[in-house]
Amino acid sequence: MKRRGRVAAPPLQRVDEIFVMGTAAAGGLSIVLGAFEPSAVWWLRWVLLWAMLGVAALDARNRAAGRVEQRALGPYEGPALWLVLALAISRTSGVPELETLPVGLAGFLFATTPSRVRSFALGVVLLVELGLTLVGLQTSGALLVHVVLYGLSCFAFSRLGSYQRWMVERAQARARAAADAEVRTRAEDFGVHTRQAEALPRMPSLEEPTGTHVGGRQALDFVEQSVGLQLEILRGSLDLGTAAVLWHNRELAELHLRGLSTRRPDVRQGPFAPGVGIPATLLREEVREMQVAPVRAGYPMLPYYGDGAVVGGLFAVAIPHRVGATEAQDTGVDGVLCVDRDATDRFSDAERAVVRQTARKIALDVACGRVLKQSEHDRATMSRFVVVLRELNAQLGLDGVARAATKAVKTLFAVDLVAISLFDREILNIVHADGIHADRFQGLRFTLEEGLTGQAVSKRVVLPHGGDYRGVQPIFTASDRLGDLRSLLVIPLCPPDAEPGMPVVGALTVGSREAGLFSPQQQKVLELIATNLATKFDLARAHEKLRDLATHDGLTGLALRRVFDERIETMLSRAERTEGRMALLLTDIDHFKKLNDNYGHTFGDEVLRQVAQVVGRAVRKVDLAARYGGEEFAVLLEDAGEDGAFQLAERIRRDVEALTFDSQGTTVQVTLSVGLAAFPRDGGVPKELTDNADKALYKAKQDGRNRSVAYSQVGVETTAPQASRAH
Ligand code: GH3
Ligand code: MG
Ligand code: MG
Repeated sequence: MKRRGRVAAPPLQRVDEIFVMGTAAAGGLSIVLGAFEPSAVWWLRWVLLWAMLGVAALDARNRAAGRVEQRALGPYEGPALWLVLALAISRTSGVPELETLPVGLAGFLFATTPSRVRSFALGVVLLVELGLTLVGLQTSGALLVHVVLYGLSCFAFSRLGSYQRWMVERAQARARAAADAEVRTRAEDFGVHTRQAEALPRMPSLEEPTGTHVGGRQALDFVEQSVGLQLEILRGSLDLGTAAVLWHNRELAELHLRGLSTRRPDVRQGPFAPGVGIPATLLREEVREMQVAPVRAGYPMLPYYGDGAVVGGLFAVAIPHRVGATEAQDTGVDGVLCVDRDATDRFSDAERAVVRQTARKIALDVACGRVLKQSEHDRATMSRFVVVLRELNAQLGLDGVARAATKAVKTLFAVDLVAISLFDREILNIVHADGIHADRFQGLRFTLEEGLTGQAVSKRVVLPHGGDYRGVQPIFTASDRLGDLRSLLVIPLCPPDAEPGMPVVGALTVGSREAGLFSPQQQKVLELIATNLATKFDLARAHEKLRDLATHDGLTGLALRRVFDERIETMLSRAERTEGRMALLLTDIDHFKKLNDNYGHTFGDEVLRQVAQVVGRAVRKVDLAARYGGEEFAVLLEDAGEDGAFQLAERIRRDVEALTFDSQGTTVQVTLSVGLAAFPRDGGVPKELTDNADKALYKAKQDGRNRSVAYSQVGVETTAPQASRAH
């Protein structure tokens, strides 16, 4: 028999339904007709009782199997039948105590069944009771007593039901309170809880103050999500086992795990004692950071690992309690960022820089959370603010960060121009512009002396004062005066804990046609975004450096051989697919061994660096310059034929020839030999192409060095001076 899921009951179930209801009705009628009275025929009572019991058992089985839900009378059958059965038993026994059996059952059904079912069941019982009274089998006094008992029973059972509900509710309330307390501790750790809010400076609202105080929950969510995100990114880029943030709760004298990204199953949640291991050292502010690599087995350095956990190397940085430049005097340590990995080698400078920057970013996020918490924005503004900051946090590259910051500013303010400039080698460069005149400003480069943006950066102040603009002062270069703008703010991008001597990252320039747009409170919000932006830029640069190190040679800065091997493969297959061209140059410095021998290895290194610079500068973005071997460089040229490649080779060769080096008063010069091979003529697979370029290079050496030779010339007799020498 099929069960459940049917719209109409199958015929057999219909029979069941009629059977059960029929039995109940027959039972009720038999009671009223006196079939269960002690005076009646004994075997009839037996037959009727057992028949009802059998049907009730059958019904109970069907009910347990879920076969009654789709039947129209399904919910009514059971209660009616059981009540009639209880009445029959109480009548047939003649024992007054058993009269409470239907009373108790009715109360139970009253408390546990839907109201329409219980009305029906009670209706059946009262009908039988009334019938009994009418046919004279019980007195009207007994009927009255029974009715009162039914009423009391129903009342008592329904109270019991609500008591149970109350018990459940109380348990739920307790669980909620425990969860709230947990959230409160988390919020207190980060300082985003109400109790601490009063101590912090207030930030006025962005828009009309509504007076609605947005709870710490939103600020806490923001902080936790942001910390989690930073840790994920960090763990991914450093291939860590665990990246964790431990927070010091001074009141409870405990260390709380407040951020975690791990691939290990053995991390414990804490809380931990703050006095042991590496975190303790950092919290005592004896040192700002600590590195242990390799880690000796069994040394309890990270509280969240149990005894016997194995880590290869670890690094930990203090997270300062600095909210911003204005509170620079407050330099306490709030927590510790710990990272570990299986590898036992030490964390490199670049890797430590990324961890350090992440710790600063976390400190800033917590500070941001505090500002958000004690601000009185309405919920909508607050949500928008949190959303844009979160988007900014999710970005990793410089470009994405600039884009997200622009979007943040545009979401929150009615601005017509947003420009983000980065400061590098005394030059400001607009990396992202949006709004009016964006095309004109995108990529613009200018010095610190030219306009308001440069001045704001060199003086580290927000300009112009008050945010009013009359179109008089130049904004970027000396000629950029925007007559249509009425409000303008240039905010220097300084990381929150920038020392006075540290360079500014860049500037955020925002303008609007609307006059008086930037009130002091708006300025505060923009400064908060600018601080985030500066920290994200720092972090992005640290990540870029790290990525560079994985693909670039430390001495020359050119791509590693591994990158070359990958790129020649892809470049060749693309050229093949598009029936295009490409070329390969192999260069080798002439008599480099002698140079090393005569002037020393350090001098040789400097020569290598400068020659590499010449090679690197000669190629376009789509090409690749790589360190191929010791003093050999390779250049992959996208979409270049032999002639073009040869010209480039000659340019590199001449530029290297023009380099001069000084070794203790002696002027030294070097020369370069170049071999070149071009696709498709000189080879279709990487090995063939490199072998042939190498043969060309060998010929260049053979023919007297300081020259470029194409593979097509290999085997061709040449006479000195070489035809290939372009002088
Ligand atoms: P040739 O003109 O035939 O190329 O003569 P060569 O002396 O340059 O010969 P070769 O190309 O075989 O010499 C390679 C030398 O480059 C050997 C090695 O000492 C030196 N070298 C390789 N890597 C480095 C490096 O990183 N720094 C320095 N200073 N020297 C290096
Ligand atoms: Mg060599
Ligand atoms: Mg050489």
